Amino acid sequence: MTKIHLVLSDDWELRGDGSGNVRALQFKTMRQLRQIYEDHGLRGSFNAEVMQQLNHLKWGEQNLELKALAQEWEQIVRETYSRGHDVQLHVHPQWSKSVYEDGRWNLEGDWSILRYSGSEIRAILKECKGYLENLLCPLNPEYQCLTFRSGSWCIAPHDELLSILAELGIVFDMSICEGLYYTKPVQIDYREIEEGHLPYYPNMRDARRVANVTQPLVEVPTHSFTSTTYYNLLTIGYLLLNRVAALRYLVGQGYAEISDNFMRTPDDTRIIDGGTADGYSKEVWASDRPKTFLNRLPVVRVLIARQRFTSDISMLTFAQMEEMFRDIRRRAKRSDSEIVPVMLENHTKDIGNFKPIERFAAYVAKAPDIEVITSTELANNLRAGLYKVKTR
Ligand SMILES: [Zn+2]
Repeated sequence: MTKIHLVLSDDWELRGDGSGNVRALQFKTMRQLRQIYEDHGLRGSFNAEVMQQLNHLKWGEQNLELKALAQEWEQIVRETYSRGHDVQLHVHPQWSKSVYEDGRWNLEGDWSILRYSGSEIRAILKECKGYLENLLCPLNPEYQCLTFRSGSWCIAPHDELLSILAELGIVFDMSICEGLYYTKPVQIDYREIEEGHLPYYPNMRDARRVANVTQPLVEVPTHSFTSTTYYNLLTIGYLLLNRVAALRYLVGQGYAEISDNFMRTPDDTRIIDGGTADGYSKEVWASDRPKTFLNRLPVVRVLIARQRFTSDISMLTFAQMEEMFRDIRRRAKRSDSEIVPVMLENHTKDIGNFKPIERFAAYVAKAPDIEVITSTELANNLRAGLYKVKTR
């Protein structure tokens, strides 16, 4: 049996447009998630979005409420790290031009780091990484920021981004996720990548491609999978159980509800301040997928179409997670390696109902072939040569 080193990463942040209540979406959910992991002997790897925090600190000089939030943020990050979880780097550059006005954030920076110059990127990443290291080094002098996930998954293509990450001491990036495709507000296309599962040395100008030779940094793609049977059966079950949703669904209004969070009971942490569940209205996120006659009909689209899912546990039902593990094991077996690292995603801000995650944690803790490690441990294992890292 191939051994799986599983990393439970989590992009820990406010919504992409800066909206949301930090205490509800971040502090409360992080404590709850942490507790579930600890109850099962697991450790999470939180990718803290640092630009948000730097702006809370900056604007907090004139605003006591923001200052209090920034201090609580530091406290909970330190507390989480002290309890054995990992904290690593996540950066959303839209915070680079932010204004706090009338109780809300206006983020005017570009959402995609790919549209920033090398010198801008270097300055941003250096500041964010330095801040995190200064925060955590007093707890552990050995602490280092070794891993990175880019905001909105923006990592490729860019002429300098990967080199800058390597220069700053980042051991691996985890921003590639097979199947992702957006045209707004960022442009990425990871539909045709060369490796979606195993660690590889990336082409330094285009992380979607595997390099011919060893590189100064490794790409560990975030897992994604294609779901058919389970998803379709569950959708049919859901439609039978909930006729109102079924009706909305058939007229094409309930799609997001069913695809992202169906069979969950969202509590008040999920929809807050009148925002949408994920903070991105339909007008903001778009992917321009070509629409054929068949996939214009929502019901046909779901029952026939193969659905691509990012392995983001905040967005999956437990049945989908089981399907995810089938995919992980199948691909691990095919890899011919003894140990395979696998990167999962989560978004604390999107968790409405913790029940599926409790079941997930219990399952992972019991699985004989799965060992949960942190991002830092994965980085150290890579440096020690424990895993096969692909070249072309
Ligand atoms: Zn993010």
